[in-house]
Amino acid sequence: MKPRKIPLRKCVACQEMKAKKELIRVVRTPDEQILIDLSGKKSGRGAYLCGKASCFKLAKKSKALDRALKQAVSPDIYDQLEQDFIRVEDEFHALKELEPEDE
Ligand SMILES: [Zn+2]
Repeated sequence: MKPRKIPLRKCVACQEMKAKKELIRVVRTPDEQILIDLSGKKSGRGAYLCGKASCFKLAKKSKALDRALKQAVSPDIYDQLEQDFIRVEDEFHALKELEPEDE
C-alpha cells in the first residue's frame, strides 16, 4: 500500500510548503471579493498563508496576494484582511487542536 499523501500547499508569503490544514486560505470569489476562507471550500482562486500574523504581514509588504490572486489588492483590502486574519487566527488554531496530534 502506498502511504496516504498529505496535500501540500505553498504559503504565498514565506514560500514554505505545508499541509493544507496548517494554512489559511484567502479566496478571490467570482464576484471579485477577497475573503478569508476558513472552510477552504469557497469557489474562486485561492492563495494560502501560514496561520500566523507574521506571514500575513509579509504578504502585505511584498504584495504576495496581488500576484497569487492575479488581481490588484488595495491597501484597504489588505487592512481589512489583516483584521480578519487576526480575528480568525485563534479560531483557526482552535479548530486544529480538535484533531489529535502525535506530538
Ligand atoms: Zn508562511
